[in-house]
Amino acid sequence: MGWASGGVIFDDVAHALIEAGAADELKRRTLGKLIDWLREEDWDTETESLEEFRDDSVIVALFRERGITMQCSDRTGPTNAGVCTRKLGHAGDHVDHQDFSWSQAVKP
Ligand SMILES: [Zn+2]
Repeated sequence: MGWASGGVIFDDVAHALIEAGAADELKRRTLGKLIDWLREEDWDTETESLEEFRDDSVIVALFRERGITMQCSDRTGPTNAGVCTRKLGHAGDHVDHQDFSWSQAVKP
């Protein structure tokens, strides 16, 4: 049996921390513990929360450290490039299914 409401708890806490401008270390400590606790309680919608916060590098890293990941799917390559097939939060260039690569835009 899964437990989808874990995602509501996680998403609410994560949004609150982001809106409050929490430092990365505070996000890591709070959300890391929350992820571990929710998973012990049989949380089964982690990937939905990962998708929700896919632009937050701290949250992506917390999930990745626990083996929860998804495809990067970046589409910012040249027009002849496909979508990136590497894992979300990867280092280095984006790479599509034909091994065509393009650099990651540096976020401000
Ligand atoms: Zn990528």
